[in-house]
Amino acid sequence: GAPQPAAALRRAEPPAAVVLGPLAGAPVGMGLLWLDHTDGLPTAATLATLLALTLAFAKLGTLLGAVRLLDSTRRAAVTDPLTALGNRHALTHRLEELSTDGRPFALVLVDLNRFKEVNDSLGQHAGDDLLRQAGDRLRSVAGPADVAVRQGGDEFALVVTGVGLDDAAGRARRLLRALEDPYDLGGRPVRLHASIGVTAAPAQGHDPDALLRQADAAVHEAKGRGGGVVAYGPHLDGERARTAQLVAQLLDAVAAPARGTGPAGSVVVHYQPQLDPVTGACAGVEALVRWQHPERGLVPPGLFLPLAEEHGLMPALTERVLDDALARIGDFAAHGCERVSVNISATALRDGRLVDVVTAGLARHRVPPQALVLEITETELIEDLATGQRVLGELVELGVGVSIDDYGTGYSCLAHLRDLPVDELKLDRSFTADLTADARTRAIVRTTVDMAHSLGLRLVAEGVEDAATLELLRRLGVDHTQGYFHSRPLPAEELDAWLGSRAGALAGR
Ligand code: C2E
Ligand code: CA
Ligand code: CA
Repeated sequence: GAPQPAAALRRAEPPAAVVLGPLAGAPVGMGLLWLDHTDGLPTAATLATLLALTLAFAKLGTLLGAVRLLDSTRRAAVTDPLTALGNRHALTHRLEELSTDGRPFALVLVDLNRFKEVNDSLGQHAGDDLLRQAGDRLRSVAGPADVAVRQGGDEFALVVTGVGLDDAAGRARRLLRALEDPYDLGGRPVRLHASIGVTAAPAQGHDPDALLRQADAAVHEAKGRGGGVVAYGPHLDGERARTAQLVAQLLDAVAAPARGTGPAGSVVVHYQPQLDPVTGACAGVEALVRWQHPERGLVPPGLFLPLAEEHGLMPALTERVLDDALARIGDFAAHGCERVSVNISATALRDGRLVDVVTAGLARHRVPPQALVLEITETELIEDLATGQRVLGELVELGVGVSIDDYGTGYSCLAHLRDLPVDELKLDRSFTADLTADARTRAIVRTTVDMAHSLGLRLVAEGVEDAATLELLRRLGVDHTQGYFHSRPLPAEELDAWLGSRAGALAGR
């Protein structure tokens, strides 16, 4: 809103009244002085004149103060206090100014990926520090005629004057490199990726709102690619339309009955076994969602989960997967697989209905709670640790198991483990992948196994792709292994057959 001191000043006196005194007083005083010089006025008159002039100057003095105050509040109104860059108002003001100016200019919008994660895991102080450092880097690539702003949160912008789209994109790539250099947060190195969108006037028009929309679409596209610089082009509008269609289809697919063959296809769940590396027996299965799309075929979760997340479909999708998993666990249990694991995203965890949905699902399918494990990644959990902890507490109360997924990729693994009601750690695939080649990874896994066991937790390794890795994991004492080496995720019927054929082989060993 409008800054208070300036508003108060405006209300106190209309501008004309403020200057009326000095404006009238000064010429009258000067006239009297001239009269005194030519005609010799009485001393009283001269003194009155001097008094009038003194008052006029005093008034001018206070006016000067008021002008200074006005100027500083005007500045404050367009400055971001954290980074001392311009703020949103400064951005719109500059765009409006340039839209009537005729010179070419470019708008560069910046979004820091995963900033929230740093903020939540390292604290707001570190988050602020990071934003200030990012602000300095933005300033360092801005020319004297450019305007650098923080729009709010982790969104920054740069208005580059006098350049076309290509030059601006070059500048944006320089900015990207600057922003992706490691940050030092109190001695702790932190790396971030950035998504940058660029658009330019007059090539894409002059209208500030339209330019902001275009740059935003480009940022969006960059985000979808996991970061980088994207220059706006009309093709992005087509991309948006396609995305909108995909979302509509996904909505239908989530709502469609299982195995439905509607125009939007359906959500299907595949299962991957987790085996005991010593005996080879099945310990459990993980449910992994896919989208059977009529034209695109079997779409992997990495391609549609972000859409589902963004459009609020995650709770419904989770409910579908959970229902399928609970319906199947009986079949898998017949082959000795005691548990089924279901992935729960942060939004599903915080949906508020999860505990009810799980309770109802367990009852409907008559599944004992110990047979269900919910996998949550650490980074998603600490996004809102208090809520996460509360919901996990309620789930544990039900008797459901909790697993920390992608363990080892978060920022502060150990500190949180102590406070979380967890049964299992699922070591991130990257550790498994490096195991045979890298002695340090072996050391990390060995310590992690020890720590997990001393905390009374199971350790599961995923992403096992070859015999040598499996052998190492077995020797390191990992409890269960999962990966392509055993089996890819399969439709339930196929996994059932696979488990059946193995049972014979295992028995015959
Ligand atoms: P995740 O939970 O870490 O799941 C393991 C991923 O590793 C799966 O990918 C699986 O197919 C893959 N994988 C298994 N064995 C191997 C291997 O030996 N080598 C390699 N390179 N990869 C292996 P997928 O099915 O594409 O799932 C990707 C991610 O999508 C999952 O990662 C999980 O985070 C998410 N996801 C899948 N289903 C669901 C779901 O129902 N709900 C939620 N919230 N997320 C899900
Ligand atoms: Ca998982
Ligand atoms: Ca994982």
